[in-house]
Amino acid sequence: MKVGIVGAGLGGLLIGALLSKHCKITVFEKLPFIGGRFTNLNYEGFQLTTGALHMIPHGSDGYLAYALKKAGADVKIVNSQPDGTFLIGGRDYLYKELFSLLGIKEKAKAFKLATQLKLGKVDKNISFGEFLEDIDLAYKIGNAFTGWALSLTAYETPMSEIIEIANNYHKFGGPGVPIGGCKSVIDALSNIIKRNGGEIITEYNVKNIEIEEKAYVDDKEFDIVISNLSPKKTQEMCNIKFLPKDKVKPSRGIKISIATKKGIINHTGVLFTPECERINGLNQPTNVDRSLAPEGWHLVMTHQTQITNNIKKEIDLGLEDIENIFKDVDYKILHIQSYRDDLPVNHASNGTDIDNIVCDRLFLVGDGAKGRGGIEVEGIAMGVLKVYDYIVRNIINKSK
Ligand SMILES: Cc1cc2nc3c(=O)[nH]c(=O)nc-3n(C[C@H](O)[C@H](O)[C@H](O)COP(=O)(O)OP(=O)(O)OC[C@H]3O[C@@H](n4cnc5c(N)ncnc54)[C@H](O)[C@@H]3O)c2cc1C
Repeated sequence: MKVGIVGAGLGGLLIGALLSKHCKITVFEKLPFIGGRFTNLNYEGFQLTTGALHMIPHGSDGYLAYALKKAGADVKIVNSQPDGTFLIGGRDYLYKELFSLLGIKEKAKAFKLATQLKLGKVDKNISFGEFLEDIDLAYKIGNAFTGWALSLTAYETPMSEIIEIANNYHKFGGPGVPIGGCKSVIDALSNIIKRNGGEIITEYNVKNIEIEEKAYVDDKEFDIVISNLSPKKTQEMCNIKFLPKDKVKPSRGIKISIATKKGIINHTGVLFTPECERINGLNQPTNVDRSLAPEGWHLVMTHQTQITNNIKKEIDLGLEDIENIFKDVDYKILHIQSYRDDLPVNHASNGTDIDNIVCDRLFLVGDGAKGRGGIEVEGIAMGVLKVYDYIVRNIINKSK
């Protein structure tokens, strides 16, 4: 069986590696390098990235780790310890310590909200912001979390997604960092595809997907085509229309990469910054893997949701936040990257994803077709696993 995959991002390579045991895989990639928004960018010895913050939302126990193991990819993911802390009033707090910052009435309210969330007894039709808005600190913390993890404000985040995310968190725990950064995941997957006889063709800009009796990528014939492009772009180049109107809404964000000798975070998780004007949180992946920066240096990455359309103002507010966070610590800005329009943080923000299965000849993978409650690459892995199971069960096994 011949499978053509359009795009060598994480989703395309993950489904390619999984299927390469059963099918002949050909991956087409427009750029000279593979990995899309999930690979390293070497800058003066710092392993910056094309997108992601070198973090896997549920670490070595989540959907991505499971899919990597299933594909036979040898990637070491170190779970964060603790998952995260919260910078409030210049001090770092663990999640459980945050309750001590609330007055008696607010404590009772916060306890009620936490219990409701754990039991899933909440109105699924409101936003996370509405759920939290009665407690100022809880709102700020929730907003820092959604900004960091989903590139959405708390008011933009549907409560139905938060319930699924909370379930996944209770099942799998918090984040982890892959040794070698994002690129180690991409290298492991591309090696599997090649080892199993597949090919990855770079600098090939696909123009057309045609679904007939067979499936075509430009003039090349396949049994199945899997698109790792955004649902919108896939539909634009395809002869069949499948997108529900106004369903898919991208999420936008800004990442700032910073070099510091001293370091600013004393653990391997996320430092959430609920009091900042724009920055939602930061991490220091060199606490896990020193090879991500030159000797004697740390790499810190901040992330912020893009709130307005004025990019310069958004970046300036982020830089002001950084100046406040690094008050007593020397640092230099290495790189500022903004993600929007055709290169957003997520092609579909959580809750606006579309189904992976278009028909038996066309499938979608990537961050426009994530599973419910799947944060970033965990959501991509959920979608990929769904496509893999469907193809094996309904197409490969039936053709035997
Ligand atoms: C600032 C930022 C921080 C993030 N942080 C994290 C994080 O810490 N953890 C996390 O889990 N996720 C994070 N994410 C999200 C994660 O990086 C993305 O969701 C993920 O990398 C997207 O993967 P994808 O499979 O959708 O493919 P993409 O990365 O979108 O790859 C698609 C590929 O298709 C190629 N392509 C496009 N058009 C064509 C064409 N016509 N022909 C051939 N090829 C084509 C592209 O060049 C690209 O290589 C972050 C994202 C950003 C932007």
